[in-house]
Amino acid sequence: MNSSNRRMLVSLAHPDDESFGMGGTLARYASEGTHITLVCTTNGDAGTVDPKFMNGYKSIADLRTAEIHCAVEVLNLSELILLGYRDSGMAGSYDNEHPDALFAAPLQEVVERITRIIREMRPQVVVTFDPYGGYGHPDHLRTHEATREAFFAAGDKTRFVEHLHEGLQLYTPQKLYYLTNDRRWLRQIIRVMPLLGADPERIGRNRDINLREIAAHQFPIHARINISAYSKTAQIASECHASQISGFGMPRWIGALRSLLETKKDSYMRAYPDAGNQIREQDFFEGVTLD
Ligand SMILES: [Zn+2]
Repeated sequence: MNSSNRRMLVSLAHPDDESFGMGGTLARYASEGTHITLVCTTNGDAGTVDPKFMNGYKSIADLRTAEIHCAVEVLNLSELILLGYRDSGMAGSYDNEHPDALFAAPLQEVVERITRIIREMRPQVVVTFDPYGGYGHPDHLRTHEATREAFFAAGDKTRFVEHLHEGLQLYTPQKLYYLTNDRRWLRQIIRVMPLLGADPERIGRNRDINLREIAAHQFPIHARINISAYSKTAQIASECHASQISGFGMPRWIGALRSLLETKKDSYMRAYPDAGNQIREQDFFEGVTLD
C-alpha cells in the first residue's frame, strides 16, 4: 500500500503524552510515511518541575513546549499543533479552577478547534484517549470528549457552518481509535509494588495516581500495533521530557516494569466503526480507502 496518502490525527493533552503513551506507534507510522498531525491541547504547566530543569526557561509552559518540540523531531511527526490551554491539574486542584485551564474552557470551543483541524487536514484515522483518559486526568477526559465529538462534527453540515463559508469542506474520518492499556500488565505491577515498598494507590510525581482504580477501567482492545522496531525511538523521545521523568515519577517506574512484563505492542480500542469485541487489527489503516 502506498503510505504517502495516509494521514493520521493524534489528539492528546500534555507534552509527554505522545512519547510515554504511544511513542512507538507514532515512530512506526511516521517512518512508514504517514502524515501525522499531533494536537496537544495544553501546555502542561501544572504539576511540579525540579528547578534545575527551569534553567533558560521563563515558565513551565516554555520548558514543556521545548520538550514536546524535541519529541516531535525524534518521532519525525509532520506537524504539531498546540491549542495552548493551561494544564488543568488533577481533579479538585487549584489548577482546575484557573480561567485559562482546558477544564474551564467551554467544551464547544475546543470541539470547534479540533473540528477545524480535521476539516483542514482530512485524516483517515483519528486517535485520542479512552473514555477514562488512561488514568482519569481531567485534561485527558476533556480532550477525549472534544476529539470524539469533533470526529463526528467534521462531517456534519449543521456543525460550525462558518468553516464551510470559509471554504472548508465537510469530512468524516474513517476510523476512530482510543489509546488504552492492556490492564493485565498493570495488575501484575500492582501485585509487585508493595513488595518493593511502593503504594500502588499513591504514585506519580504528585502522588495522585491510583493504579488500583486505573486497573479497574478496562476497555476492549481491538488493535495491537507492533512497535518492537521502534521502542528505542520512543525511549529517546521520552527522554526529551526530562523534567517529567526525574525522581519517583510514574513514567520511569512504570516504563521499567512494563518493559519487563509487556510484549512490544501498543493497545487501542476501535471506537468507530463500532467493533464490539470481535476484531483483532494490527494496523490502523486496515480497510481504509486512501484518496
Ligand atoms: Zn497527560
